[in-house]
Amino acid sequence: MKFGGTSVADAAAIENAARIVSAERAASNIVVVSAMSGVTDALLAATPESVEPIFSRHLTTAEQLLHGSELERFNEFVKRAEADVRELLHTQNTFNHKSVQDAVVSFGEILSSTLMAAVLNQRDRPARQVDARRCIITDEEHTSAAPLLGETFRRTENELRPLVESGVVPVLGGFIAATPDGVTTTLGRGGSDYTAALIGAALNVDEIQIWTDVTGVLTADPRVVPNAQTIARLSYSEAAELAYFGAKVLHPKTIQPAIENSIPVRICNSRLPHEPGTLVGPQSDTSRRTIKAIAHKTGVTIVQITSARMLGAYGFLRALFEVFERHRTVVDVVATSEVSVSLSLDEVNALPAIVEELQQLGTVGIEKGRAIICVVGEGLRGTPGIAGRVFGTINDITVSLISQGASSINFTFVIGEEHVKDTVIRLHEEFFNHEKAQESQKENR
Ligand code: ADP
Ligand code: ASP
Ligand code: MG
Repeated sequence: MKFGGTSVADAAAIENAARIVSAERAASNIVVVSAMSGVTDALLAATPESVEPIFSRHLTTAEQLLHGSELERFNEFVKRAEADVRELLHTQNTFNHKSVQDAVVSFGEILSSTLMAAVLNQRDRPARQVDARRCIITDEEHTSAAPLLGETFRRTENELRPLVESGVVPVLGGFIAATPDGVTTTLGRGGSDYTAALIGAALNVDEIQIWTDVTGVLTADPRVVPNAQTIARLSYSEAAELAYFGAKVLHPKTIQPAIENSIPVRICNSRLPHEPGTLVGPQSDTSRRTIKAIAHKTGVTIVQITSARMLGAYGFLRALFEVFERHRTVVDVVATSEVSVSLSLDEVNALPAIVEELQQLGTVGIEKGRAIICVVGEGLRGTPGIAGRVFGTINDITVSLISQGASSINFTFVIGEEHVKDTVIRLHEEFFNHEKAQESQKENR
């Protein structure tokens, strides 16, 4: 059971999350928590002079939740954490910046998990905080480390199984991990979902539950489409595509560990715990709807390489993609023609160096401020006319890249960032509201 930042944002939210955990009496459960909302951002921006409010927020929250020795112990823990963070911040400029940053932000999850374990204990649900850095073992890529699966599974099993078997609820901070040598790393922003999935896979659990502030995965981002609807069931592939292309409700890597053991992933609303939310599993549902959801992602850069040398030549694409590999830059969407390749990037730190190397291969063009729109559904396979409907709906907006694989369950294209809201709203209207109206018309006939 993973609770995100808003689900542990204050005393009332933590109380509520603890109630949800306690209600699950029949099953033995494991809890993963994010930092209280806003704490990771605050720690990332912190200086030794500015950290105090982060810690006093934990203290005032604990005062509303704990009493007696439980409260005293937590207060002491917070004081020590504050001193540790100050010391780390003083060294930030002397040592490797990213590794100090990981050590600093890790306190968000360390504090929230310690508090959650204390609250559960006080509710007579025996619980113990377990340092996730003893379970999730990663490479040394600070700020976006990749787990070493064998070692992670072995350690998680050793650390958590005995607790679970003796009826104690292990409570871990998400997002944080360590190298085999014990140096703190993190899994990337939003990574607590991934922690939950890794632990679920390690212990081969019955279900991975992601408790958040919306009722499951919705047909579009609710910040853009307020009347977006909960999707009852999604296949693993559908959920993974939505997560890759911007549906923030799931970290993009969450689905991977679940697939291996066919573990269902349920996304629930911690404020409306009785709503069923979304169930992600091997199968999609067989609804008439071809499209399940629309995802979007802004802040995308398009790189276009044009070269006559590509014509009829082999090895060109390899040379091109090796440039991105050398600079450890992930490419998302790709489209090629005889003489040009267009591709999209999220991460542009290495862009100047990449462009310099690409210029050896051809003429390079860059478009910044782009957005990816992705319509997803298993029904896209073999349904004709989807592209026509999509582009018919937005025929006044310029599209700069289109991609749909042969057996693909997504249809993806790139537009200017300024058109994102309008595009998503219009597509949602076309594929959801309009279709719904037609269905009910048929039923009334
Ligand atoms: P948590 O802190 O619980 O991990 P996040 O903020 O990371 O929560 O993710 C939940 C948010 O994701 C929602 O509040 C919503 O604004 C956003 N979101 C974007 N796209 C979708 C979508 N398709 N379905 C549900 N939520 C989405
Ligand atoms: N606290 C981390 C973040 O804000 C991880 C998470 O919330 O999933 O990115
Ligand atoms: Mg999240």
